[in-house]
Amino acid sequence: MYNYIKHKLGDKKDKKKKEEKKKVPPRPLVAQKSLTVLNESRTEVVAEKIEDVYTFGRELGSGAFSTVRLGTHNASGEQFAIKIIDKKNVKQDLHRLAIEMDVLKSVCHPNIIELKEIFETDETLYIVTEVVSGGELFDRIVEKGSYSEKDAAMLIRKLIEALDYLHDKNIVHRDLKPENLLLKSKNEDTEVKLADFGLSKVLGNEVLMQTACGTPGYVAPEILKAEGYGKGVDLWSVGVITYILLCGFPPFYNENVPALFESIINAEFDYPDEYWSHISDDAIDFIDNLLVADPSKRMDAKAALQHTWLQGNAPSTPLKAVQTKLKEYNVALKESKTSMNSENPLGL
Ligand code: ADP
Repeated sequence: MYNYIKHKLGDKKDKKKKEEKKKVPPRPLVAQKSLTVLNESRTEVVAEKIEDVYTFGRELGSGAFSTVRLGTHNASGEQFAIKIIDKKNVKQDLHRLAIEMDVLKSVCHPNIIELKEIFETDETLYIVTEVVSGGELFDRIVEKGSYSEKDAAMLIRKLIEALDYLHDKNIVHRDLKPENLLLKSKNEDTEVKLADFGLSKVLGNEVLMQTACGTPGYVAPEILKAEGYGKGVDLWSVGVITYILLCGFPPFYNENVPALFESIINAEFDYPDEYWSHISDDAIDFIDNLLVADPSKRMDAKAALQHTWLQGNAPSTPLKAVQTKLKEYNVALKESKTSMNSENPLGL
């Protein structure tokens, strides 16, 4: 009986409590939400937090200023890659990026990672893109049983086709480097996918310059001279990447950063005989027409696609020594990336 009364009384108390709770006016729904989708108006609040829209999975990789994680879209079950950037690293006003979202989202090409959406909260930027499973291109090349100049030419052709498409839409990548060359799947060696287009707009020139300082130079002379960021900057980077693909080390390298910059600005590089004597003249001519200091004299994407080296006749002789050298370079790349993640990336 006692228990019964206690139970009943308790019930009443609970009811009273619940009623008191009800009297507190609910906060307006919008004020509680803070995940905004970046579009032209920049006002579309979609949820309280990213986890309401995507469920995070494993880490896919990390870069100097970001972490990339697998994300499953809660509504559709579809998987994406979500790049998470601390806004402290975003030096730009995002307004310009917001205005260009329509153009960026319209990019649809077999060799370019598609952008789905960009979200922001007060502290973080989330870039949602297509996910690929093949890993980084350089990792795959060093693991490959055999690799030839023909393979390199095929990859470079696809990369330039992707750039030609972006350049026609007036999109300049501006941050082309091996880490941005991913492969579609584990069993496709040649389906290269270009990542991170549009990101340069998020990070701004200052951060890009910092990245350029911390990693061996893929960056064009005109960027170092702060003389502009036209489409030519991407073709310069293709020249650097092609050089590395054919010998396993970069054309511009110096532990001393000012000296490195100097050699890039003057396009001072060579083809040491020991590594280049067996590479075709066409390949060398192709690089010579990309690593040109004056951007107006550099091949553009369309001219590069017409170059003899990209017409399918490059030699298919295995480049075993290149794979070994590239392996060493790749290890150094990963190490420099780790140090870029530290507090003081430039060691200053
Ligand atoms: P950052 O530009 O900050 O250096 P990256 O774009 O290089 O960062 O991304 C870091 C790593 O995350 C990549 O090297 C790659 O291994 C992985 N990654 C990036 N985007 C994707 C994607 N769309 N699908 C799968 N893995 C990805």
